[in-house]
Amino acid sequence: QAKVAGKNCFRFYSRAMNQAVERRVHLEQELRGAWDRGELSLVYQPVFRLVDGAMIGAEALLRWRHPELGFVAPSVFIDVAEQSGLIEVLGPQVLHAACADAVRWQQERDDEHPLFVAVNVSPRQLRSGDLPEVISASLRETGLDAKLLHLELTETAVIGDELHASALLSELRGMGIRVWLDDFGTGFSGLSHLRRVPVDGVKIDRSFVADVLRDPDDLALTTAIIAMAHSLGIMVVAEGVEKEGQYAILRERGCDFAQGYWLGHPVTAEEFLALRV
Ligand code: C2E
Ligand code: MG
Ligand code: MG
Ligand code: MG
Repeated sequence: QAKVAGKNCFRFYSRAMNQAVERRVHLEQELRGAWDRGELSLVYQPVFRLVDGAMIGAEALLRWRHPELGFVAPSVFIDVAEQSGLIEVLGPQVLHAACADAVRWQQERDDEHPLFVAVNVSPRQLRSGDLPEVISASLRETGLDAKLLHLELTETAVIGDELHASALLSELRGMGIRVWLDDFGTGFSGLSHLRRVPVDGVKIDRSFVADVLRDPDDLALTTAIIAMAHSLGIMVVAEGVEKEGQYAILRERGCDFAQGYWLGHPVTAEEFLALRV
């Protein structure tokens, strides 16, 4: 009896697994030509400085609108791109497009306060070996000042291979590029890594920011991250600010920068220009 049930269970799970695999294979096939078909685009979420509320730059976020599937979540298609290796084609295209948009912003605004563009870089891109060349090609071809390009890496991208990561990040920072650790606090090992991996700052994951008003532990952790980062001489961005109260408390605790729906949703490059904050 149990054996039969077990068999049925197995058959059920394997069918579900097959469907999941098929979906991924399908997504991968569709994603392959998506850039050339114009289905992929970048949106930009503004980043603000907390001391004076000035807009200082934006994070580039990739969007995929498929004619039949509709919007596919980045968490899904970035993972497909990462697993399949497609990210090594998409990553440079994203970098180039983001740099080109940022150059246009500087041309249309006064040069006194140039805006940076922050681009997410996946673990595989970091390991690919040609990231510095890919980046310098984007900078050269678009004419963007290296200081205005920020890279966002997740903790998982640098963990395990810290020697290589440190050397690479030092090289990138030597070019004038800023480097941020994204989703900081979710990787558990964060604090000790900061001593070994050269970054300009950390982005506190939005899961901490979400409960900063309700959960004393999350407020304590957030406050500790800010204090620790500052004592190491690096800066802090809070992501996922959805309420005025969160903004206020982060500012009170000395957080440097923030982004989130309360401050501004991701918008197209043209809409971003029109913000004129
Ligand atoms: P991330 O880098 O941590 O980006 C922040 C995510 O939080 C974005 O989701 C953004 O839309 C969302 N967000 C911003 N403000 C708020 C808020 O106030 N509340 C909430 N609930 N969410 C907020 P998105 O665009 O879906 O991107 C998800 C992840 O996909 C990104 O997380 C990033 O890891 C990855 N990703 C997106 N674009 C790219 C890309 O061009 N390259 C790579 N490698 N990864 C990308
Ligand atoms: Mg990011
Ligand atoms: Mg993040
Ligand atoms: Mg996140």
